[in-house]
Amino acid sequence: MRSVVWFRGKDLRVHDHPALARAVSEHGLVIPVFVLAPDYFEGSKPASRAPHRLQFLLESLSELQRTLRSFGSDLIILPGPASRALPELAARARAERVFAIGACEPAARRRDKIVAGKLPVPLELCGFETLRRPGSIRSGTGGPFQVYSPFSRAVLAGFELSPLMAAPRSLPALPVELTELSAEVPTLEQLGIARNPKLQRGGERAARERLQQFLHRHGKQYDEERNRMDLPGTSRLSADLHFGTLSVRTIFAAAERALAESAPSAWERYRAELLWREFSHHTLFDRPELLERPFRKDFEGFPWIDDDQNWLAWVEGRTGYPIVDAAARQLLDEGFVHNRARMIAASFLTKQLAMHYARGEAHYLHWLTDGDQSQNNMGWQWCAGSGCDAQPYFRIFNPIAQGERFDPEGEYVRRYVPELARVPSKYIHAPFRAPAKVLADAGVKLGETYPEPGIDLDSARQRFLLMASEHLGKKRDARTKGA
Ligand SMILES: Cc1cc2nc3c(=O)[nH]c(=O)nc-3n(C[C@H](O)[C@H](O)[C@H](O)COP(=O)(O)OP(=O)(O)OC[C@H]3O[C@@H](n4cnc5c(N)ncnc54)[C@H](O)[C@@H]3O)c2cc1C
Repeated sequence: MRSVVWFRGKDLRVHDHPALARAVSEHGLVIPVFVLAPDYFEGSKPASRAPHRLQFLLESLSELQRTLRSFGSDLIILPGPASRALPELAARARAERVFAIGACEPAARRRDKIVAGKLPVPLELCGFETLRRPGSIRSGTGGPFQVYSPFSRAVLAGFELSPLMAAPRSLPALPVELTELSAEVPTLEQLGIARNPKLQRGGERAARERLQQFLHRHGKQYDEERNRMDLPGTSRLSADLHFGTLSVRTIFAAAERALAESAPSAWERYRAELLWREFSHHTLFDRPELLERPFRKDFEGFPWIDDDQNWLAWVEGRTGYPIVDAAARQLLDEGFVHNRARMIAASFLTKQLAMHYARGEAHYLHWLTDGDQSQNNMGWQWCAGSGCDAQPYFRIFNPIAQGERFDPEGEYVRRYVPELARVPSKYIHAPFRAPAKVLADAGVKLGETYPEPGIDLDSARQRFLLMASEHLGKKRDARTKGA
């Protein structure tokens, strides 16, 4: 049988790739293809949407193409949209099937329906980007879970990882009339993106190295160090999970093998984080509307404040709260933010500054290399208090206390806010509390070399609590009257 394998950008690997394995099992011609989505690759400013993700994607794509060539095949690159490119390719190649891995994101699922409707042959979705099939984990009442802990127990109940799928050793050569159709993998220059040398390297090989490095260097201390912003205590595999340079099954299996016996609490904690990822994907699969509105209906119409001055200070890392500023600058600099710093920064934007979580969500999605609709939306709604199993609205992170606890010597702040590098640890998270002489010795002039705090934490906290209790109270009253 002649089959097309449609790589879709969240599956850029040859190991444990269910669609590729399925096509290979047919023992016929396998036609690997990637379609360049017009949203990202065409138009006047195509790359303005996600420069860091595009850098990682292009590196991963080039490596995948080299790997498939080393197997004797190739990766055909076609200009999109997929709804035109794939039917044309399938007809021209006289393919009998198109195989692809199933998607969770609403736009990708809509696209799949359209493509399936236009293809002259069946589109067969094989496997998924999660551990369990999205839509298959149901609570006692038959609906999707709303709370993480019972969801994670349900995922694990009776769960056994089926064997990982090996990469093919060789693939049949593609006929010239098909390789002739292929465009080149675009370059960053063609897309008008300046290369950021501080990003993680894309591709399956770098991903596998990162996985081994984490398991051998930091994995056993994961439960103790994962919250420390100053330490390299987490796996840094989020972009690999997003682009599928590693399958979540590969990571799960390797971490279980390396940690479950020798460091059980590290393994349990790491598994719990993979299950938070799982929860966010299943939740978005079941509730695609979450990209448009809050999970908690009583947050609809919340009186968020639009304040461009505070917004810019938050985006550029000039709020006067060093840990919040370090998070903002790490994002723009490296396309990554430590999870604890994401929580502090998001809490600050949505609670202390009372700005709509969607604004922060879009900014993160733009700059994060691991920017993922489901995890990002869940992260933002969790921090704002509007989300599924979210932090309650009245829990408001204090950025100074968080900094002192999870960056005790201020190393994280010093790395990203170098103008504070010489401030003693005692004051690094609140330089405005330092005596004038201490600041002078550290070369800091508040308001000149580093900003004074733009807001007072206590009054910001009181303002948010009042706004939220009034708004949620009104919603509750309306519900009671309606009942
Ligand atoms: C406001 C906000 C926005 C976020 N946006 C994204 C995003 O766009 N993409 C993204 O991958 N993660 C996002 N996260 C979750 C988390 O911050 C990152 O997954 C994590 O920091 C990645 O680093 P790591 O790979 O070293 O994580 P590790 O601690 O090593 O965790 C391993 C993997 O588990 C998953 N994971 C870990 N923590 C979480 C979590 N809280 N929620 C869901 N999955 C998790 C990730 O896939 C991660 O790679 C967001 C969190 C917040 C609070």
